[in-house]
Amino acid sequence: MKFNSTLLFLFISVCLFSQTKDPKDTEVWEPEPRVVTSKVTGAAPSDAIVLFDGSNLNAWQSTKVKEGPAEWTLIDGDAVQVKPGTGDIMTRQAFGDVQLHLEFKTPEAIEGDGQGRGNSGVFFQGRYEVQILDSYENRTYSNGQAGAVYKQHLPLVNASRPPGTWQTYDIIFKAPTFNKDGIKTSPGYVTVLHNGVLIQNHVEIYGTVEYIGLPKNKAHGDDFIKLQDHGNLIQYRNIWVREL
Ligand code: MG
Repeated sequence: MKFNSTLLFLFISVCLFSQTKDPKDTEVWEPEPRVVTSKVTGAAPSDAIVLFDGSNLNAWQSTKVKEGPAEWTLIDGDAVQVKPGTGDIMTRQAFGDVQLHLEFKTPEAIEGDGQGRGNSGVFFQGRYEVQILDSYENRTYSNGQAGAVYKQHLPLVNASRPPGTWQTYDIIFKAPTFNKDGIKTSPGYVTVLHNGVLIQNHVEIYGTVEYIGLPKNKAHGDDFIKLQDHGNLIQYRNIWVREL
C-alpha cells in the first residue's frame, strides 16, 4: 500500500512537472476571437446593431399601438426626444444577453423634483429598468435615482452630469433563464457604467421592477428593449447594442 501511494505521488509529480515545464502547454489558440473594429470610443463597433443613429426610428415601435411607429420627436438629425403622452417606445427586435450603449440628456430647464425631474428609463426585455433621471443635485430615494436598478439596487456612486449635458450609459445585461416548468434557473445580472464610471457591478436582478410591491418572476424569453415616456423631455442619441 505504501509502495503504491509512493508510486502514485511520483506519477502525479511527474505529470505536474511535465505539464508546467513548457509554457505552450497552457496556451489556447482555438477558437480565435474574431476581429471587431471600433474607431471612436462610444461609436458603434463593427458588429453592433444600430438602434438609433439620428436619422430615423425604424428600429423602434409604439408600445400603445401594436406594431405602430414610434412617435417620439426627431431633433436635428441627431437625437430623439420623448413625446409625452405617446407612450414608451420599444425595439422591433427582441434581445437576450446584450451590451448596450446609449446617450441621454435631461432637460436643461429644471422642472419638478425627485422622480418628477428628467425621468425616463431603459428596460431590458421590457421588464428590467435601469433608471434614467436628472440626479444632479436632485435628491430622491437612492434605489430610484439615475443608474438604479429600479427599487432593487442603488448605484455605487452618483456619476450624473448637470441637466442639459449629454451623458452615457454602457450596460452589460445578462438575461435570466427559466426551465420548461417556468421556474427561474438563473437570475439576470446587470453591469452599468455611467459616464464611464462603474455604478452597478454585476448585480443580480431579482425580477421585474415594480413601483409597488416585490419583483415578479414570470418566465419569458428574448424580448424588446424599451425606453420610457415618463412625461419629461428626455433626449436620446447614439443607441447601439451588441448581442452576446
Ligand atoms: Mg424611470
